[in-house]
Amino acid sequence: MANASVSPSVRGRFAPSPTGRLHAGNVFSYLVAYIVAHRAGGTIALRIEDLDPQRSKPEFAQACLRDLDYLGLGWDVGPLYQSMRTEAYRQAFHNLVDRGLVYPCFCSRADVHAASAPHRGEKFVYAGTCRNLTEDERASRMRHLQAQGRSPSMRLIVPDRTYVIDDLFQGRYAQNLAVDCGDFLICRSDGAFAYQLAVVVDDAAQGVTSVVRGVDLLSSCPQQAYLQDLLGFEHVSYGHVPLLVSRTDRRLSKRDHDASIDQMRATYGSAAGILGHIAFVAGMVPEDRPATVDELVAHADLSSLSGCIQKVWKA
Ligand code: GLU
Repeated sequence: MANASVSPSVRGRFAPSPTGRLHAGNVFSYLVAYIVAHRAGGTIALRIEDLDPQRSKPEFAQACLRDLDYLGLGWDVGPLYQSMRTEAYRQAFHNLVDRGLVYPCFCSRADVHAASAPHRGEKFVYAGTCRNLTEDERASRMRHLQAQGRSPSMRLIVPDRTYVIDDLFQGRYAQNLAVDCGDFLICRSDGAFAYQLAVVVDDAAQGVTSVVRGVDLLSSCPQQAYLQDLLGFEHVSYGHVPLLVSRTDRRLSKRDHDASIDQMRATYGSAAGILGHIAFVAGMVPEDRPATVDELVAHADLSSLSGCIQKVWKA
């Protein structure tokens, strides 16, 4: 990507969930987000995705800010904490409710993971069971649930519409919302707003135009583009980078100690050592040697990420 395409309005983002320390996979996607935004003359927004109070910890959020700082992956806007944004999500939610686009869902355990980004890659297509309830059926299920002191989760009705995403790295991706996704959750039964709603409201609030993240979230783009249309927000551009996987083909996790930020600091000795190694593993530079963020903005070859869904992590 050449500097000739300078556009002052490009804004990328880092959106860590503070459920643990950063690992090589997080650093890799933030590095690419940074390179893409800075090559376009743009800026970066930081958002702490502490939407799920059970899984998020303030100490991980603090550590994340320190680690990004150490790595030289700076941001221009934020951090915005999702835990402080409930009112903004509520407004967007009521906007959709008032337009008759939302219905209560009584299906059990429907919402276990809705507040987290769906990294596991399973694509659950909701059959629309609770969309088709009569008013009487709905009222009776509501009474039954309320008698147990519980509330339903809330689903957004999707149209029979195909969204086509032209991804910077993965090429063209198409999904028909009705067939491939189904009505999806925007609020959990415990009242927590869902990841899909929060991320769209926050990307718009932070002026994000360029979303770079792991390829396991590619299938969330059509839901997010649909929400952007409903809420009157601009679409964003997407770049989904390959996942760093361990040799056993699993997405890197806390189990892979050699990919943890502390172990990488010990092994590579400096921020440039860590970034240079990650860029090398991803095929973005030809040699495994230290490289600063600025050097990688200038020289890293992002074509190695095209059409690729995984890179094997080697410490
Ligand atoms: N907060 C998510 C994560 O850290 C990323 C969500 C996104 O980039 O849309 O895994």
